[in-house]
Amino acid sequence: MVSRSMKATALAILLIVTTAAGLAVAYPTAAAVACPSCLGFKKASGQVYVEDGMTPQRQAAALETIAMARERLRQFYGATESNPEIFVCGDDNCYRKIGGGKSRGMAVLNLALFLSPEGATVTIASHEMSHIELHIRIGLIKTFRRDVPQWFDEGVAVLVSDDDRYLKPISSPDRCLREPDGALPTTRSAWIESAASASLYAKAACRVSRWIADHGGSHAVTRLLEKIVAGESFEMGIDRLLRPCWKVTAGISSRPPPPADSVLRSRP
Ligand SMILES: [Zn+2]
Repeated sequence: MVSRSMKATALAILLIVTTAAGLAVAYPTAAAVACPSCLGFKKASGQVYVEDGMTPQRQAAALETIAMARERLRQFYGATESNPEIFVCGDDNCYRKIGGGKSRGMAVLNLALFLSPEGATVTIASHEMSHIELHIRIGLIKTFRRDVPQWFDEGVAVLVSDDDRYLKPISSPDRCLREPDGALPTTRSAWIESAASASLYAKAACRVSRWIADHGGSHAVTRLLEKIVAGESFEMGIDRLLRPCWKVTAGISSRPPPPADSVLRSRP
């Protein structure tokens, strides 16, 4: 659970950082976190808010979706450390009003997740919740520094969400749909969902799924994150476990500084 003081501090940081990036875009989501009813949301249950006026049937469906997404997180990470507030829009107007644009999911730091009507699926919700869980585990500073490269973060999120657009079924001996054939981008901007980036997600998921399979399961990821928290670099932490071919192809050595808008993510 995020304490009230942590929430206030993080919101203050958000507002400072996003002043440069465009307060007009960031403000509605920050305002909704601070005062859900001001932006037309009401609490449905626990940390879940839905657009005011949503029918009871749709509210129930939204709560069931979030519960299933949380279960996917638990299956992968074990006990979860994150517990973001989740806002579900019932129509496009609601999502537009909070600055959602054409994305389907949008996270505000590690505090909150906003889902468009199209994004209120188990796959999309658990993908975004995986990013938040990973970032919570490594902390705000290491997240902003991108101590875990974006390709690994995305590959894990695809695994957690069991996204069949980018992975073969879990029963397959090898889940890869696309063979990684070179370095994967480390910058956040390369990972906005599009037809062009679809193969990137599949390649990242392939690389991470094979690494997990080679290292005994998803707890290898949590162990790696613990190493990073303890002070090891991603390269050091993963290097001991990498198969030789990775060292040639993974492209994990460069990490440019994060863009000013990295405080807001909007991806699948
Ligand atoms: Zn993602």
